[in-house]
Amino acid sequence: MNSELTAYITLICTSSVLNLYLFFYVFFNRHKYTNIAKMFLLYTAATTIYCLGAAFGMMATTVEQIKFWTAIQYVGMPFSPPLSLLFTMQFLGMKVTKKRVIALLTIPFISMVMVATNDWHHLHYRVFEVDPVLGAPFIYLEIGRWYVVHGIFTFSCLFAGFVLILAHWKETAKTYRPQLIALMCGQLVPMITAFVYLIGLTPPGVDPVPMVRWLATLFYLWAISSSRLFTIMPIAKDEIFNSINDGVMVLDDSTRLIEFNTACKKMFPQLNKSMFGTDLEQVWQGLSGTSIPFKLDATELHQEIGVTTAENSQRIYQVRTSLLQNSKNNKGLLIIFTDITEVKRLQVQLEHQAYYDELTQVYNRRAFFQKSEQDFAKAMKESMGYTVILMDIDYFKKVNDTYGHHVGDQLLIHVAKACQTQLQEGDIFARYGGEEFVFSLKGRTALEGEVLANKIRGYIEAHPLQRNENEGSIPVTISMGVAEATNKMGTTLYQLLNQADKALYLAKENGRNRVQVYLEHSLARN
Ligand code: GH3
Ligand code: MG
Ligand code: MG
Repeated sequence: MNSELTAYITLICTSSVLNLYLFFYVFFNRHKYTNIAKMFLLYTAATTIYCLGAAFGMMATTVEQIKFWTAIQYVGMPFSPPLSLLFTMQFLGMKVTKKRVIALLTIPFISMVMVATNDWHHLHYRVFEVDPVLGAPFIYLEIGRWYVVHGIFTFSCLFAGFVLILAHWKETAKTYRPQLIALMCGQLVPMITAFVYLIGLTPPGVDPVPMVRWLATLFYLWAISSSRLFTIMPIAKDEIFNSINDGVMVLDDSTRLIEFNTACKKMFPQLNKSMFGTDLEQVWQGLSGTSIPFKLDATELHQEIGVTTAENSQRIYQVRTSLLQNSKNNKGLLIIFTDITEVKRLQVQLEHQAYYDELTQVYNRRAFFQKSEQDFAKAMKESMGYTVILMDIDYFKKVNDTYGHHVGDQLLIHVAKACQTQLQEGDIFARYGGEEFVFSLKGRTALEGEVLANKIRGYIEAHPLQRNENEGSIPVTISMGVAEATNKMGTTLYQLLNQADKALYLAKENGRNRVQVYLEHSLARN
């Protein structure tokens, strides 16, 4: 064995051993790494097979042995560049779908089969024999058609990977640059070597790539130890930015748009990367035809905006802004949009449930007191008239008993609606409980209250509950008690309602379907 051959074998073995070491290193530490380590393992495995095949090939003495080890090399070599490209894509945050994997591994698979079966078709190597001058393990070969396809594909994968990494160079923080350098070497070393080989500048009869692979491997090991390749990736930043559910816009110190995330694009579909560098005011005009409906002031804590979406639905976004200070001390602005439509809807629904009677959809007792207390206090303070009316449906139990509870409910709705038609601005009307309703009339005297009560009573008497066609109508009458507040010290709304209740009791006693005003002297006994 001459010294040249020994040198080749030594170099190839170095590549094999280093790759094997890299493979096992990543394999045994894989639980510490992110998902992309899997693709890297496949890539290292392919490269190791390639180098080992080449190392054993260098020790072959017959053409059959050389062919065998070449076939072994091709179990790894054609897969190495596309796997490296896939790994690079993953590293840079691009989507690596199953389809993409299959598409990129089809040609390598065919190449592998082509070399294993080359003797039958000679499509990969037209001629493949021991070099007549140098002898085994050096070979003389003439390339076949498939070799051209394989060569172009391999080269393209390496080149594409290199260009992708280069395109991310600028936006990658210094700390992560060793990772990019390692990845670039992984592409560049085989690419340049293969190129030099193709133009005939390397020793004849041998493939020089496995001899230099160790160089790329060293770079990978350096990247793993110096900048924790696989553990922390610069691209994670982008992924996090885009996985935030809130819409985020980033403005520079002159309020020009410089970035937005995926959620923001969903909220404002017209947002476009071509708007980068445009003042937000102008961007907003383009999005909604209006000027910015919120303040670009980081001290404004919770602002809300209504936005009509492309599907014409109304959404409510909470807007928060916060100052960004970069390394050059320029102050940018972060705008965060949170979709609070559902929260708002729930809030409105809960508020409604808290203050409205579910059946009649008029105020409930709680809302009545909350709203009337203020009016009452004001009326007392300013010596204004203030009157309440308590109303009770006559013989309501009979309706329930005769027609059923459901019809009773309908009657309650009917009466509530009828009352609402008679209200004036400022009057408060509520369901007091059961089949009793209450009115509070700010600024009105007992006499005015009596007039209104009689109007309502007459209206309800004149409007029985209409049932379905053949079922006729149900007549309904009501009794009402009216009481006006006198601004005696210490009178409360409850006392006033108690007086109205006494008057109502009298109205019932006196035959129902009538209005009774509370008069202290005549009702004091009750
Ligand atoms: P009066 O003329 O003396 O007021 O007689 P009434 O039958 O109206 O008086 P009473 O207070 O005895 O009856 C009220 C009934 O109202 C009793 C209760 O079952 C019924 N009721 C209370 N709330 C509801 C409701 O939400 N729906 C229905 N259908 N009935 C209700
Ligand atoms: Mg009652
Ligand atoms: Mg009743």
